[in-house]
Amino acid sequence: MAGAGQEIGAANPKHNGDENKEKTFHRAHRIGAVDRLTSTDDLGLYLHAPFCAHICPYCDFAVEAVGRGTPKLADAWVSNLLQELDLVLAEVGPALLERSLVTLYLGGGTPSLLPIDALERLFRQLHMHWPQPIGEVTLEVNPGLGELDHLAEWRALGVTRVSLGVQSFHDILLKRLGRGHSGAAAEAGLRKCLSAGFESVSVDLIFGVPDQTLAMLNQDLNLMLELAVPHISAYALTLEVGTPFTIAHAKGKLKLPAEDDLIAMHDLVEDRLHEAGYEQYEISSFSLTGHRSRHNQRYWARQDVLGLGPSASSLLNAERTTNFRARQAWEAALHSKQRPVEERERLGAMDLRRETLYLGFRRPEGIDLRAYEARFGEAVESCFETEVNELKALGLLQQVDRHLSLTRRGVRFADEVFLRFVGR
Ligand code: SF4
Repeated sequence: MAGAGQEIGAANPKHNGDENKEKTFHRAHRIGAVDRLTSTDDLGLYLHAPFCAHICPYCDFAVEAVGRGTPKLADAWVSNLLQELDLVLAEVGPALLERSLVTLYLGGGTPSLLPIDALERLFRQLHMHWPQPIGEVTLEVNPGLGELDHLAEWRALGVTRVSLGVQSFHDILLKRLGRGHSGAAAEAGLRKCLSAGFESVSVDLIFGVPDQTLAMLNQDLNLMLELAVPHISAYALTLEVGTPFTIAHAKGKLKLPAEDDLIAMHDLVEDRLHEAGYEQYEISSFSLTGHRSRHNQRYWARQDVLGLGPSASSLLNAERTTNFRARQAWEAALHSKQRPVEERERLGAMDLRRETLYLGFRRPEGIDLRAYEARFGEAVESCFETEVNELKALGLLQQVDRHLSLTRRGVRFADEVFLRFVGR
């Protein structure tokens, strides 16, 4: 993923580098729960490309630095991915191919580093498995590497949506973040993407960066609004365990904005985007009408997604799996004709209740209490009375009509709320 920050709703807690909180977030963000509310007739597919030009010092995703990429690595990745798909099909059965593939998301990493011929081969093979057109095909892209010369080719392959890792238009902040592009390259890249004819374009915006001021963030928002970017993912910078940023912070060499400043940045992002007509359909996701990410919504709605590639997670036929994180371990399993799965999990009744809550809280409508009761045969308070009452008393949760949702303050401290349910 080009962003690798934290969602808007995780202000202070994310700056303390607490590993459990990181894991909680990643579980909540990347993985859907088992108990689906919707039909299993369709499917989302996530492909993890574990390559980046270089590693940003705040990132802990499963990626390795490959400079401008190597065709050999890309070819091997495609072959391995297709082999993984064959192994999934052998295990799950051909019914998987009868499902309608409605979203495809190429993330990472920087999948836009992949040479066109490798992408072509991948798309061709996927098309043989699922011949119908895929409604939404997203490619994560970074500006400034010359890859944006391939926009027309990506469109011809069927990419409908690009997600551009802009982060900021300020050189000083991009340098702080160790990004490989300048502000000018980010703007030029964004303009190119917007005029290339994709159905949608998303931009990652990061805030809470050392030395960032409210005025700088406001300028970044001004430009995005001027360009009418259809979708914006806004993340607060977070300290991930073991990253150079976290180490520097522990040594007192990296100063992050104070909590009040960070909250002011959250407020600014939300207020500006709401005023401009963006719908905040998830705590870090803002869209103009018709531009929600269909793929990401699948995770929050606990719909099936098959994930392939190192570290990829799947929710398939009521089972959650997570692949080996290291590319070498992922490849070694495949070479032994084994699915490269490190963890398998079937959720119990309490897990389902917990996940229903913390995934539901990511969305502005929150939890429909009637639907919860109909599904579990009991009220939320039956299992979570203490948590709900305490979070209400702290001003983090609210009940409006028959919906339980985060307050504005709760959105700022969303991780604290999630932990109350995940950590039991
Ligand atoms: S571009 Fe940077 S932040 Fe994004 S996945 Fe690569 S290393 Fe991580």
